[in-house]
Amino acid sequence: MDETNAVLTVRGVRKTFDAELAPVRALRGVDLDVVSGEFIAITGPSGCGKSTLLNVVAGLDAPEEGTVDLAGQRVTGLDAAARARLRQRHVGFVFQFFNLLDELNALENVAIASLIAGEKRRPAEARARELLGLLGLADKATQFPATMSGGQRQRLAIARALINKPTLLLADEPTGALDAAGGAEILELLRRLNADGQTIVLVTHSAELASAASRVVTMRDGAISDVALSGS
Ligand code: ADP
Ligand code: MG
Repeated sequence: MDETNAVLTVRGVRKTFDAELAPVRALRGVDLDVVSGEFIAITGPSGCGKSTLLNVVAGLDAPEEGTVDLAGQRVTGLDAAARARLRQRHVGFVFQFFNLLDELNALENVAIASLIAGEKRRPAEARARELLGLLGLADKATQFPATMSGGQRQRLAIARALINKPTLLLADEPTGALDAAGGAEILELLRRLNADGQTIVLVTHSAELASAASRVVTMRDGAISDVALSGS
């Protein structure tokens, strides 16, 4: 594997949650490499540690053992504020339930991620408009999330995740709250973004959805149990 193209390197990551009865070993020594331009799906049954791994990769959570390197920088060992800065620069995150701001319209929901990253209003809104167009939401700029379908809301969330030109797009069950047609649409969109060069890690418990990716990583009980190249 070409080290210079490494977007993400995960080594020996362990994460244990305290629970009332016994500690939950959510990640039990995970290694993962993602290179620039890849579209990887992480799959496996509910509770196997997929979301925990994604949160650790994004620096939302810190593992007690192991290392995560993102875009050539070591994430593990940084404090929460430094991880947040790194995440802002390098990670776009898409969630199952969109996590949009209900009181902002579509354009504002996308632009705000750029404003928070320090961009000025005009360029932030111009880029937000461009992304709404790219994601087929050009005529929805002044609509509020509550008036939009699930598929439209998820496309809006993807636009927001892309506005800071992330090195890595992470999506945790992005079709989980959508019907079959809405889910297929989001998957097709992710494939198109990847064809345009976006590096993507998609988490899904669905083996069928996972097959859209170029590499499928299967997890089981907090560890990676299988890696397969997809036919596509
Ligand atoms: P998946 O996304 O594959 O469904 P998760 O990463 O969410 O799995 O969870 C892995 C394991 O860690 C599960 O047993 C889950 O209950 C546990 N877990 C996740 N987050 C927490 C938490 N904040 N506190 C305690 N246990 C947690
Ligand atoms: Mg999960």
